[in-house]
Amino acid sequence: MSSGARHLIFATNNQHKANELNAILGATFKICTLQEVGIDMDIPEPHDTLEENAREKSTTVYSLMQADCFSEDTGLEVVALGGAPGVKSARYAGEHGHAEKNINKLLEELASHQNRKARFRTVISLIENGIEHQFEGICEGTIDWESTGTNGFGYDPIFIPTGATKSFASMPMEEKNKYSHRKKAVEKLVSYLNQKK
Ligand code: IMP
Repeated sequence: MSSGARHLIFATNNQHKANELNAILGATFKICTLQEVGIDMDIPEPHDTLEENAREKSTTVYSLMQADCFSEDTGLEVVALGGAPGVKSARYAGEHGHAEKNINKLLEELASHQNRKARFRTVISLIENGIEHQFEGICEGTIDWESTGTNGFGYDPIFIPTGATKSFASMPMEEKNKYSHRKKAVEKLVSYLNQKK
């Protein structure tokens, strides 16, 4: 393991998210997923806001491990749908995490709308020495009329970030990370952690 890297537990079972973060964080921080620290649980997301769900995950892991940790919760907020699916993004089509069904439902709901504006919003909840700090990242964009690309996960095949001409799923991860909501939230987290060195 690299010397001097600060270790943080990332309260997720989503390997895509962990890979994106590892690419952003480089060598200064080393993140360990729930699986890597031996926590075999899917932490519930019972609340109505990303902020509360992120806190639920980080505080659950902190109470189990008594070690600094962070979580994130992300939602896709579509203007023509009044911000839906938002905090319910993972369960939009009823089944937890079924990306294809979620995408199909969203494309159906938006079929008659010319306004395709949407944004991804990520909230990171860090628990450091028992105290919570939150960091937000937003990526503005539009919902395409059809799925394209095979990279990434979730709604990536239908989301085109502002400034790009193709979907997140049509980009390599490094390119997605130039625009991404998660990247913006993680940059704030890193800048907070670096200030304290
Ligand atoms: P959660 O943050 O894991 O609860 O994710 C909520 C929903 O948004 C899930 O359906 C994810 O697949 C989706 N999602 C989260 N982050 C991204 C992303 O970066 N791109 C596309 N979909 C995402």
